[in-house]
Amino acid sequence: MDEKLEPVLAEIERRNAGEMEFHQAAREVLETLGPVIARNPDYAKDSLLERICEPERQIIFRVPWIDDNGKVRMNRGFRVEFNSALGPYKGGLRFHPSVNISIVKFLGFEQIFKNALTGLPIGGGKGGSDFDPRGRSEGEVMRFCQSFMTELYRHIGEYTDVPAGDIGVGQREIGFMFGQYKRITNRYESGVLTGKGLRWGGSRVRTEATGYGTVFFLKRMLEASSKLMEGRRVVVSGSGNVAVYAIEKLQSMGAIVVACSDSDGYVVDDDGIDLALVKDIKEVRRDRISSYADERAGKSRFVKGGSIWDVPCDIALPCATQNELDGKAASTLIKNGMIALAEGANMPCTPDAQRKFREADVLYAPGKASNAGGVATSALEMQQNASRDSWTFAQTEQRLETIMYSIHDRCAETAEDYGMPGNYVAGANIGGFIRVAEAMRALGVI
Ligand code: NDP
Repeated sequence: MDEKLEPVLAEIERRNAGEMEFHQAAREVLETLGPVIARNPDYAKDSLLERICEPERQIIFRVPWIDDNGKVRMNRGFRVEFNSALGPYKGGLRFHPSVNISIVKFLGFEQIFKNALTGLPIGGGKGGSDFDPRGRSEGEVMRFCQSFMTELYRHIGEYTDVPAGDIGVGQREIGFMFGQYKRITNRYESGVLTGKGLRWGGSRVRTEATGYGTVFFLKRMLEASSKLMEGRRVVVSGSGNVAVYAIEKLQSMGAIVVACSDSDGYVVDDDGIDLALVKDIKEVRRDRISSYADERAGKSRFVKGGSIWDVPCDIALPCATQNELDGKAASTLIKNGMIALAEGANMPCTPDAQRKFREADVLYAPGKASNAGGVATSALEMQQNASRDSWTFAQTEQRLETIMYSIHDRCAETAEDYGMPGNYVAGANIGGFIRVAEAMRALGVI
């Protein structure tokens, strides 16, 4: 790391003690900024870097709710409003037992640069709760969401902070939260949340956007290296929103997806994953992925625990969660002949895995760039809400595709410009950073 940047990271580690995921995300960005500071030393002045790494505001709150047996439960809610130099804070809400301030800060920090890369007017933020929706009834999820919004509503707004979904938060949860916001404020303020249902202010393609967008980015990255998608064997981790729609787009482009997973284990289906069955299990029945193998007996197998990255493939798409792919998994993928990896999840590859991909010279798309399709389409949802309009599926998907190609090209050109051709990590970090840094400098000491 550049010697001017080392003290910045040391200070982040000191002030945010114990926040390992946040340290990891900050280190990854700072490690790539050396050439930018060398070319433009002004970026290292006026504590600009320190300010970018410090959230504008962090909100932590109690979320009490009552379960189906009448017992009072309590969770912790978070919203980190990280940077609003480019627009209202924008980023999802995650409901998962692992959520803590470190995870929310790492996600919020990444979101700043991701949102900048889209070229759209959105700042960066993230939030969530350590609430575990698994095994909870619809009534319990609704009461939790209502209680969560009873505090959150005072911090958000169409021009202030616009949350969306993430792990454990889909259209159902956004609906419960939007309903509560509307009750409390007595305003039908559609633009306050994105990921809404189509009948109540949502955008076509938002559900599909992160998965589709990741595959658009992947396609462009392969084409830039004169490689094709068709006929490739692909492994996709997860079976949630991002994974399902990544699989859908991959299959429509002629790739063969042979494995997917959830937190219990993974399924392998050499004929190609039956996506209709996965959707039925995950979106309708809200069941475990192991039942896929039960219903495709003889054609598919379920491996409990273990690593999905042991399954040989040409392309890997981690679409579950952070740090799900470590150095050992990276070595296995490389040994098995993988040519490209695109991150659907946020920070799914550990620093060790990233280093191995760099050394092996495989194509590697960081989530900050490749999974930006979700937030980009959220911004398109805000545009439609603001103009009281609703676009067709084809029109919206076309916008998404154009945005993903332009993010790809911005990363590739920036990496090239800074003497690191093919390094999409550097391209994404530098491209996003410059846009935010320029806006912050223009707005005075903020
Ligand atoms: P979902 O909740 O819809 O799905 C998450 C999937 O990952 C599930 O299959 C889940 O399995 C699995 N998973 C979650 N946590 C773990 C874990 N600790 N270990 C193993 N598997 C796990 O979430 P999304 O699909 O929305 O999000 C997936 C990733 O994509 C996250 O990193 C998120 O931040 C990122 N992302 C999402 C966007 C969006 O628009 N939704 C936008 C950009 C990034 P199980 O059901 O067993 O928990």
